[in-house]
Amino acid sequence: PLVLGIETSCDETGVGIVRGTTLLADEVASSVEEHARFGGVVPEVASRAHLEAMVPTVERACATAGVRLADLDAVAVTSGPGLAGALLVGVASAKALALGLGKPLYGVNHLAAHVAVDQLEHGPLPEPCIAMLVSGGHSSLLRVTDLTAGVDPMGATIDDAAGEAFDKVARLLGLPFPGGPYVDRAAREGTVTIDFPRGLTSRRDLERHRFDFSFSGLKTAVARWVEAKERAGEPVPVADVAASFQEAVCDVLVRKALDAATAEGVEDLLVGGGVAANSRLRAMIVERADRVGVRVRIPRPGLCTDNGAMVAALGAEMVARGRTPSALDLPADSSQPITTVLV
Ligand code: ATP
Ligand code: MG
Ligand code: FE
Repeated sequence: PLVLGIETSCDETGVGIVRGTTLLADEVASSVEEHARFGGVVPEVASRAHLEAMVPTVERACATAGVRLADLDAVAVTSGPGLAGALLVGVASAKALALGLGKPLYGVNHLAAHVAVDQLEHGPLPEPCIAMLVSGGHSSLLRVTDLTAGVDPMGATIDDAAGEAFDKVARLLGLPFPGGPYVDRAAREGTVTIDFPRGLTSRRDLERHRFDFSFSGLKTAVARWVEAKERAGEPVPVADVAASFQEAVCDVLVRKALDAATAEGVEDLLVGGGVAANSRLRAMIVERADRVGVRVRIPRPGLCTDNGAMVAALGAEMVARGRTPSALDLPADSSQPITTVLV
């Protein structure tokens, strides 16, 4: 099926077009620069930017894919989770397109779309697989059998998301927003010299939180370390702190993801979400998975961060599996749970 997907859950206006698992267009207009001076995404600013970018981004996607709107078989849109006002722009736009074209509409979960996008690069998802979703707002381990029917959450962060930790530590180190890519870059020039804590990995914590994550203690440890340096009047070795922090995050993510795969007897592990773009995470997980006989799939970095292609990919899967389309009065749900894959 030829499906157009719209993503507006945060600050990226994404429009993607796929035919089945083939990517035809992936156009992203980001308002990130408008938010940078505030050190975080400003919801009202993001909503307005989506409104301005929507029509031109849809037009660009059609031009890139070489298709006309009338050729589409379905329209898919992120219905949640995300910023309420931002989601509303995407949902309203998708409804207008679907209604105007007389095509079915699929309101899908943003987090499930982060998983589905891998199909565009590596073909149909192996079933079952373990998916580790690591992004700006979420960090979860999921067992996936049929992504269009739902996912089984195995664990999640009990405080900060991994991407949130990257962004907060970047800020501590004086790096720009959003910090993840800057920490990644800084870390490449540094050495892992500081042994920062690995949250929820003690034997006692593992009893109750085997597949859960915690990153707020790590963030605080980095803050204390940096403060102590500053108090001593010594320069902060930004690259080494970045590398040591990143190592701690990746170590925990990789350990728990592989433990989940092993515990479930599942041989395929998929990693998705913005943090999956991290170069150290990608290298570490591939290396350690190989040692325990787990196959890893990670979409290319550009498909890990928010985009419309991921929504189109999940929409195409909904069509292929004969799922019932959403009603035209489907709501935007800012706190849509990960278990609700299709509204
Ligand atoms: P969610 O998907 O949970 O709703 P989101 O949509 O804001 O959150 P994504 O776009 O999926 O998040 O991911 C953005 C996050 O990924 C940010 O926290 C950003 O810093 C982080 N990130 C992006 N690239 C990298 C990288 N190379 N290394 C580490 N983190 C990264
Ligand atoms: Mg973003
Ligand atoms: Fe996201």
